[in-house]
Amino acid sequence: MIPAARPEIGDEERAAVDRVMRSGMLAQGPEVAAFETEFSSIVGGMHSVAVNSGTSALHMAFLAAGVGPGDEVIVPSFSFAATANSVALAGATPVFVDIELDYFATDPSAIEAAITPRTKAIMPVHLYGHPANLVAIKAIAEKHGLLLFEDAAQAHAASVDGIPVGAWGIAGSFSFYPTKNMTSGEGGMITTPSDEVARLSRVLRNQGMERRYENEVVGFNTRMTDIHAAIGRVQLTKLAGWTAKRQENAAFLSANLEGVVTPPTAPGAVHVFHQYTIRVVDHDRDAFAEQLTQRGVGSGVYYPTPIHRLPSFRLDLDLPITEVATTQVLSLPVYPSLSQGELDQIVEAVNAVAKAGA
Ligand SMILES: *Cc1c(COP(=O)(O)O)cnc(C)c1O
Repeated sequence: MIPAARPEIGDEERAAVDRVMRSGMLAQGPEVAAFETEFSSIVGGMHSVAVNSGTSALHMAFLAAGVGPGDEVIVPSFSFAATANSVALAGATPVFVDIELDYFATDPSAIEAAITPRTKAIMPVHLYGHPANLVAIKAIAEKHGLLLFEDAAQAHAASVDGIPVGAWGIAGSFSFYPTKNMTSGEGGMITTPSDEVARLSRVLRNQGMERRYENEVVGFNTRMTDIHAAIGRVQLTKLAGWTAKRQENAAFLSANLEGVVTPPTAPGAVHVFHQYTIRVVDHDRDAFAEQLTQRGVGSGVYYPTPIHRLPSFRLDLDLPITEVATTQVLSLPVYPSLSQGELDQIVEAVNAVAKAGA
């Protein structure tokens, strides 16, 4: 069985963990500081602040930039729940908008239509590793005086017009969950051009204090450990090679799959293929996935229910493209360790199921 995801942990990661264990400095320390400095290099030199998850990164970034009660934040409903949870956890209200079907990305015209006097921020999601239309969305943010956040949890080193994701607005948030393009076990990173947002993020992750026992605000413990940072530092050195392999695998799949809609890349965008997501249009998607499983090919549906319809939000909204996407999307294996034999097997299985009808 070819699994839907396969995290890569090598000897270097194990050695890095051992080094930290031997040092006796386990909590946030020199490895975290080094990881932050090194991560800044893939976001065009922004400040980087490491935390214990991608969700914490989103949450701390909103609080540090002053998003809170009474504010509305425009987000897509076609995403992982953490996108909207973080808005709600900051005390603000997520306002859900529709996507563009081609790139599964937040639709700029839907954003503009959702702006009210209470709108404080926009947060597109770079879903599956394909960057949202940042040129258009940044222009909307500037025109209306709104803060631009990026949920870049799935898009390490993706870019638009040569500018990396996480560097377009007031803050970007990345995740290092095991199935993401790089991992630290669990972990997240806030990126920001703002000295003050960076400082406040550091304060908030550490009980609200910059200097020990001089707590200035009510804060959290969302620190990253040196153990996790050591893993992340090793993975960061491998990211460029892995991304190239993901792009190569995706190109092979797109050149050979038949009977399904393969994922295009927008002009000017660099897609880092966290997921390789096809649309199953002529068959029942779930039956299609079941047939793939029987042929030894794992797949995933991200996400079967739009966030606004989850019991945690339960809103009655009309987001037709989002509804179509939830019934059609199917993510195939694309990770760097796939062999040519496995790629061939994926192509044969998909083409056979598409042809047979499911
Ligand atoms: C993974 C993910 C998150 C949350 O990251 P965690 O590290 O799991 O907390 C947020 N948004 C999106 C789009 C994600 O895929």
